[in-house]
Amino acid sequence: MSAPDAPRTLRSPRALAERGLVEAEGLPLLEQVAARYAVALTPTVVEALRGPDDPIGRQFLPDPRELRMAPEERADPIGDEAHSPLPGIVRRYPDRVLLKPLHTCPVYCRFCFRREVVGPTGAQLDPAALRAAFDWIGQTPEIWEVIVTGGDPLVLAPDRVAQIMDALDAIPHVQVVRWHTRIPVVDPRRVTEALVAALRRPTPAWVVLHCNSHLELGPAAAAAISRLVDGGVPMLSQSVLLRGVNDEPAQLEALLRGLVRLRVKPYYLHHGDLAPGTAHLRTSLAEGRALVDGLRGRLSGICQPTYMLDIPGGHGKVPAGAPWVEPAGDGEGAAFTARDPQGQRHRYPPVSG
Ligand SMILES: *Cc1c(COP(=O)(O)O)cnc(C)c1O
Ligand code: SF4
Repeated sequence: MSAPDAPRTLRSPRALAERGLVEAEGLPLLEQVAARYAVALTPTVVEALRGPDDPIGRQFLPDPRELRMAPEERADPIGDEAHSPLPGIVRRYPDRVLLKPLHTCPVYCRFCFRREVVGPTGAQLDPAALRAAFDWIGQTPEIWEVIVTGGDPLVLAPDRVAQIMDALDAIPHVQVVRWHTRIPVVDPRRVTEALVAALRRPTPAWVVLHCNSHLELGPAAAAAISRLVDGGVPMLSQSVLLRGVNDEPAQLEALLRGLVRLRVKPYYLHHGDLAPGTAHLRTSLAEGRALVDGLRGRLSGICQPTYMLDIPGGHGKVPAGAPWVEPAGDGEGAAFTARDPQGQRHRYPPVSG
C-alpha cells in the first residue's frame, strides 16, 4: 500500500510549478500548451529530471514553443487515419498491422507523432470494438504479426494484456505479437511478474521499448527490463532522434551502449516526425544522417540501430540512408528524395502549402 504522500504522476503545469519544475511566471502559456497537448510526468521521470533543458526535461516538460506550428508540420504526420480499415487497426503493409487498444500513456512525450489523439481522455476500444478487431485479423490470413501500440498498451492491467495475448494466440496465422511501450523506463513498477506471465504464450511476444536517453535507464528501469528478459521476453528498442536529448554523438552512444548492456537490441532510430509544435526538438535529416554515419566503426555492430524516416502522408517507413533517401540534388543539400516501398518518390521535407 502506498503512503498518503507517495509521489504521484504530475499532470498539470500548476503541479509542475508547485514542485519547482517550471517557473510560475510561465504558467499562463504552459496552461495553453496543456489545454492542447496532454501533460504527465511519472515519479520515475521526475526523479531523473535535472532541469528543463536536460534530456528528460526536454522530452516531458511542456514548452511554450509547442504553440508554434511550422509550415511543414501536420496533425496526422504519418497518415495513420487513411490506412485504418476499422477502429483500432492500422494497416500499411501486407503482413503486419497495428492494433491500438487505447490512446492513454503513462507520460506524454512533447514530440509525440500522435499528440493530437493521445491523452487521458483519448479513445479506447470498447469490448465489442476489440472483438471486431480480432475478428478482422482472424479473417485476414496475410497478417503474420500484430503490433500492439496506442497510446501505451502496457498501461493495461495484466489480465487485459493476457486477454489480448489469448485472442491473438488463438489465430493460427498470427505468428508474432509485438508490444510497443515506454512502461519499463517511465513506470517500472508496473512490470510485475503478472505482466510478464501475461506476455508468455505459445505465440511469442516481443517488447519494443521506447527510450531516448541513457538517463532513462536508471536502476529501477534496469530491473524492470531484467524481469522481462529473464522471463523470456525478447526486447528491442526504438528511439526518436531529438535535439538536445540524443543528437550529440556522446549522448547517442551512451543510449545505444546502455540498451545493449541491458539486453535490449537497438532496432529503430526514428527521424523526428513533423508533429505540430515540435520544430525545436527536430534535427534536420542531413544532421541525422551525419550523426548515424559516425556510429559505424566506432560502436559495436550490435549497438547499431537503423535510422528511419516515416515518409509524411502515410507512405511508410524507410531507412533514412541511401538508396531509399538521397539528396534531391537541386541546391544546398537540405532537400531529399525518399523512395517508398512501392517505388514512388517523395520530397522531404515536403513542400508546404
Ligand atoms: C511502423 C509501422 C509498422 C511496423 O513497421 P516495421 O518496419 O515492421 O517495424 C507496421 N504498420 C504500421 C502502420 C506502421 O506505422
Ligand atoms: S508514450 Fe508514445 S504514444 Fe504516448 S506520448 Fe509518448 S510517444 Fe506518444
